[in-house]
Amino acid sequence: MSDIEFFSTNGHPERVNFRQALLVGQAPDKGLYMPERIPVIPLSKISQFSKMSYPKIAYQVVKPYLGDLVADEAFRAMLQDAYNFDVPVEKVYDGKYILRLDRGPTCSFKDFAARLMGRLMQYFLKKDGRSVLILTATSGDTGSAVAHAFYGLENISVVVLFPEKEVTHRQRRQMTTLGKNVSPLAVDGKFDDCQALVKQAFADSDLKGLNLSSANSINIGRLLPQAVYYFYAYSRTATEGNTIVFSVPSGNFGDLMGGLIAMKMGLPVHKFIVATNENDEFPNFMKTGDYEPIRPSENCISNAMNVGHPSNLARLFCLYGGQMDETGHVNRQPDLQAMRENLFAVSISDEETRRTIKDSYNQYKVLLEPHGAVGWAGLARYLKEVGDWSPCVSLETADPAKFPEEIVRLTGVNPPLPKAMAQLDQLEEHFDKINMNYASLKDYLGRFAKSQEQ
Ligand SMILES: *Cc1c(COP(=O)(O)O)cnc(C)c1O
Repeated sequence: MSDIEFFSTNGHPERVNFRQALLVGQAPDKGLYMPERIPVIPLSKISQFSKMSYPKIAYQVVKPYLGDLVADEAFRAMLQDAYNFDVPVEKVYDGKYILRLDRGPTCSFKDFAARLMGRLMQYFLKKDGRSVLILTATSGDTGSAVAHAFYGLENISVVVLFPEKEVTHRQRRQMTTLGKNVSPLAVDGKFDDCQALVKQAFADSDLKGLNLSSANSINIGRLLPQAVYYFYAYSRTATEGNTIVFSVPSGNFGDLMGGLIAMKMGLPVHKFIVATNENDEFPNFMKTGDYEPIRPSENCISNAMNVGHPSNLARLFCLYGGQMDETGHVNRQPDLQAMRENLFAVSISDEETRRTIKDSYNQYKVLLEPHGAVGWAGLARYLKEVGDWSPCVSLETADPAKFPEEIVRLTGVNPPLPKAMAQLDQLEEHFDKINMNYASLKDYLGRFAKSQEQ
C-alpha cells in the first residue's frame, strides 16, 4: 500500500510521509502539514462500523495514512492499548446526543490524540535509535494529556509550558505530579504567549541539538486520530442514509479539523457547529470575511478554548482553497460560501455557558462542564435558528470534575472524581517557572539539555 504524502500550508515544495511529519511537527517554512490526498471510505464500509469496536474503527480510519510505515500487528496493538477506555454516546432527548470524550486517563478528549501519537512516535524513534524533546504549550488540557501519554516512554522527554494563572489547580496537578521524563514549566503569561514562545524555540537554529518536536494540535499525528471519534459517533447514532450534525467546542480548531477530515473521507455530515467562547474571531470571519485575531485572548471559563488565533485555521483555510500564514495573515481568501455550507459558527458568552450548565442539569440531569456546555449551547442555537435535525451529536471534551468550583455553584452538585483523578489532590507537585520572554525559555532549555547529558 502506498502511503500518503503531506505538504506545507505555506507552500514549501518538499513533500514528506507521515513518519517525517509526525517527528518534525511543523514544516520547515512554519506551515502546517496537510495530506496531499484524502482517502475515501465507501459508505458500504462505514455502515459496517456500527458493529466494530473503537480500536477497529480507528484502524480503518488511520491506516490509509500510514501505508506500510508501521507493521500491521504493531499498529493494531497500539490502538488496543491507546483506546482501552469507554467512549459513551449518551442520548439526551430525541435524536440529540452527547459524545463523552472524557474517559481517558486525563479525562479530556486530548487523550485520544496524544495516546496514539505517543505510541507512534516511540515506535519510529526506537526503530531509528533516536530521541526527541517534545516542547509543547498548553491552555490546560493538552499538557496533561501529552504528559500522561508520553510518561515513562523511552527516547522521549517532555517540556510543557502552561500559563500559571489560567489553568485550574487540577489541570496543573495532572502535569506536575508525574515526574520522570515530564518537566512542566509555569509561564507568567497567557496561553497565546506560551504558544508564541514555543514557536520561537522551533525557529531557533541554536536549539537544533535538542531535537525539538511538537505535540501541539499543529502536529498531524494529533489530528488524524481525532477523525476517528466522528466515525464512531456516527456509527452509534445514525442509520444508513442519515446525515449528521456535530457540535464542536473549539479553541485551536484541532478537534474541528479532525471532523472535517472525517467528512472529506466520506462521513455523511450535514453540518459542523463551530462553537467558540467569547474569543469570536472565527464566527466574526464567517460573518464578514475579514479575519482579525483577538489579542490578547479573552479569559473565559472554558479555559482550554481561550485562543485568540487558532493555529489550525491555516489548515481550515487550506481545505477551502485559501492560504493563511503562521502569523494569521490571509494571503488568499478561502471559499467562504463553501465554508458556510459546511460550518455554522457561533460564539457563546460565559453567561450563556453558565446558564447552559444549569439548565442541562435541571432539565435533563446531564452534568456538563464549561467546554461541553459551549458545544451544547451552540447546538441549541443552531436548532433554534436553522431548524430541527436528527441525529445531532455534541462533543463533551472534559470531565466535569476538572472544573468543580463552577459546577457546584451552578448546580449544587459536586461532580464525582473519576478514578483516573482520585489520587490527584494528594500527590506532590514539581515544576519550574520562567518569565514571559524568550530569553528565559532559551536559558531554561539550555540548562535542561545540560542536565540530560549528565
Ligand atoms: C483543547 C480543548 C478544547 C478545544 O479543542 P481544539 O482542538 O483546540 O479546538 C475543548 N475542550 C477541552 C476540554 C479542551 O481541552
